[in-house]
Amino acid sequence: MSDEMKVQDGQIVTMDYTLWVDGEVVDTSDGTDPIEFLQGAGNIIPGLESQLYGMAVGDSKDVWVASQDGYGDVDEDAFAEVPRNQFPEDIPLEPSVELQVRDETGDVMNARIDQVGEEIVRLDFNHPLAGKQLRFEVKIAGIRQATEEELEHGHVHGEHDRDYEDEED
Ligand code: ZN
Repeated sequence: MSDEMKVQDGQIVTMDYTLWVDGEVVDTSDGTDPIEFLQGAGNIIPGLESQLYGMAVGDSKDVWVASQDGYGDVDEDAFAEVPRNQFPEDIPLEPSVELQVRDETGDVMNARIDQVGEEIVRLDFNHPLAGKQLRFEVKIAGIRQATEEELEHGHVHGEHDRDYEDEED
């Protein structure tokens, strides 16, 4: 039965994937667990989700996703210049070092050091894959109908304690 199912909205899809950017693997489920998500709920990036419709278990595909359908284009406003002396001493001030910054409201944001000047450090708050074309190699490992509860919540519920987004439950 399940091998007749094709990916459509309202299904839980289990998928192996490898993400290539600029010819290099940046993420893969190889060696770990495949990802599981509710198709049609925006659980994965839109440019990938839209290419999965109609695939069956065992099907594989190369999906190219333009940056605007992936992690977005580089936002020139998402940079901030911070005086060097505001960084704790244990943070190496070198380009591409990743760090977390707390804003005025207490939210933690991920940033990367973009440029280091004599007095100013330029931080980049864009997603590391912003502006990048993505290439996914995907293989559908499983498809099942979502439960009522999953549809209501808009995400997959695992066998284990994976419903971590449901603090309000
Ligand atoms: Zn839930």
